[in-house]
Amino acid sequence: MFELAKQRLDPVFKHIQVDDEVIERLSVAKRSIIASIPVRMDNGDLKIFTGYRVQYDDTRGPTKGGIRYHPRVNLDEVTSLSFWMTVKCAVSGLPFGGAKGGVMVNPKELSKLELERLSRGYIRAFADVIGESRDIPAPDVYTNSTIMGWMADEYGVILRRQVPGMITGKPVYLGGSEGRESATGQGALFALNEFVRRKNWDPSAITIAVQGFGNVGYHFARLAQKSGYRIVAVSDSQGGIHSPKGLNVEDVYKFKQQNNELASVYCEGSVCNTLEYEQITNEELLLLNIDVLVLGALENQITQLNANDIKVKTILEIANGPVTPQADEILEENGVNVIPDVLANSGGVIVSYFEWVQNRSGLYWDVTEVHEKLKKIMSKEANTVYDLALSHNCSLRTAAYIHGIKRLAGAIDERGNRKYFKSI
Ligand code: NAD
Repeated sequence: MFELAKQRLDPVFKHIQVDDEVIERLSVAKRSIIASIPVRMDNGDLKIFTGYRVQYDDTRGPTKGGIRYHPRVNLDEVTSLSFWMTVKCAVSGLPFGGAKGGVMVNPKELSKLELERLSRGYIRAFADVIGESRDIPAPDVYTNSTIMGWMADEYGVILRRQVPGMITGKPVYLGGSEGRESATGQGALFALNEFVRRKNWDPSAITIAVQGFGNVGYHFARLAQKSGYRIVAVSDSQGGIHSPKGLNVEDVYKFKQQNNELASVYCEGSVCNTLEYEQITNEELLLLNIDVLVLGALENQITQLNANDIKVKTILEIANGPVTPQADEILEENGVNVIPDVLANSGGVIVSYFEWVQNRSGLYWDVTEVHEKLKKIMSKEANTVYDLALSHNCSLRTAAYIHGIKRLAGAIDERGNRKYFKSI
């Protein structure tokens, strides 16, 4: 996966010249740590979980990236995600490098107390290398604000003082930022709005399907519908629902919530329980003949196996890495525009940055101020990427990477490169 992730850089270096040393620096992670996390289970047994933290590059600032709880978490995946975070923070112009963490676990099999012990154990394992000026974690797949709150508390216990800026995505009552919960979906909508505005499209004439009705997918769908777009299909891990006339996103969400068995801290309901709409499979959702396909679930959803069957002309990547590089080539040949993850899902890390700023300054903003600031950054960076795609005649992904790599290369060069030191 990491080798595939790095392939995204190849087309970039055809468009911009960077020093070989920059390429060398960006091809390896700065620090990768694997730790065992012992957890006393409710039945008295001791279970050892494997935790990861990869700090990919910190040239532009302390590293930043979420913590994922998933049975398939491994070093390769965490490294790839940390690489994307490095590029993403640079694309958004945030003063951060990139990192990522994870634990190989199926969190739905844990009780709430076991989950709390595991989360506190993760912080004990990595406390020496994280911190508000070093590496700032956040939520990712199957971690949430409650878990971030436990982690901030554990860090405070270790340091014997409160350091809320050591982690973001905390509950608002515990120093989280207003607007963080919906930030990724909101930011993706701002990126789509700019794309639609430049194309002179009318949002009310645009049909959208959303793969993944979790945190980002739900908020995106809700806000997009509020802005006039027609959401015709959504899916989750159990399957999807489709209505050509348009779904009522809030109704689907409420239905999903009502049908939840609350296992641990996770929602177990599925959109498939919403019976009044036609049920479709996840594969069918990807192949719908609509205007915009939003990928908000997991990586590697569009590969060389299904890329040729994709009918939409615009894909919005809210998940990280949902389209493989091979699929990218096919989609580009077929004239499909992919608004890439490193731009489209950066709303989350941008509002995380706001949370970090608020925690450090002690001055808190209301949700209107958060949204205004998010819109300003997303619109500016999205338009820069769209302009670069036109001027370089390249895909939106390559344009986003050009934008981010220029900032990264600038920072690496400013520390001194071969040319500089050989001229002394
Ligand atoms: P989440 O766990 O809240 O939601 C994931 C959703 O995807 C769930 O509804 C799950 O049922 C569904 N899903 C899983 N496999 C699926 C499949 N094969 N088909 C359809 N649906 C499937 O997670 P999230 O926080 O919404 O994150 C989703 C993606 O967005 C991840 O790739 C994550 O890295 C990325 N992301 C999240 C944030 C954030 O702020 N939460 C920020 C940036 C990127």
